[in-house]
Amino acid sequence: MAEPPPTIGALKTLGVTGVLPLCRDCKHGGAVAFDALGLPDDTPFPHVLGSRRFRCQNCGSRDCHVTPDWRNYRASGMG
Ligand SMILES: [Zn+2]
Repeated sequence: MAEPPPTIGALKTLGVTGVLPLCRDCKHGGAVAFDALGLPDDTPFPHVLGSRRFRCQNCGSRDCHVTPDWRNYRASGMG
């Protein structure tokens, strides 16, 4: 029983403001806001990764590992 993937809107309500591509070559990371992607809030997060080629702003590599930007995540129910 797999959970459905979170949507952009669901992540926003958790305090996630965007995605954080991390370059595998030079380890450079540069956050990209959801607003900058121009995708609707009901877009499933995995679709974000498939719909856009992230490119390292430092070295130009396309070998980026993209994760949600959890830095502003508001943990709930964790005490
Ligand atoms: Zn790089």
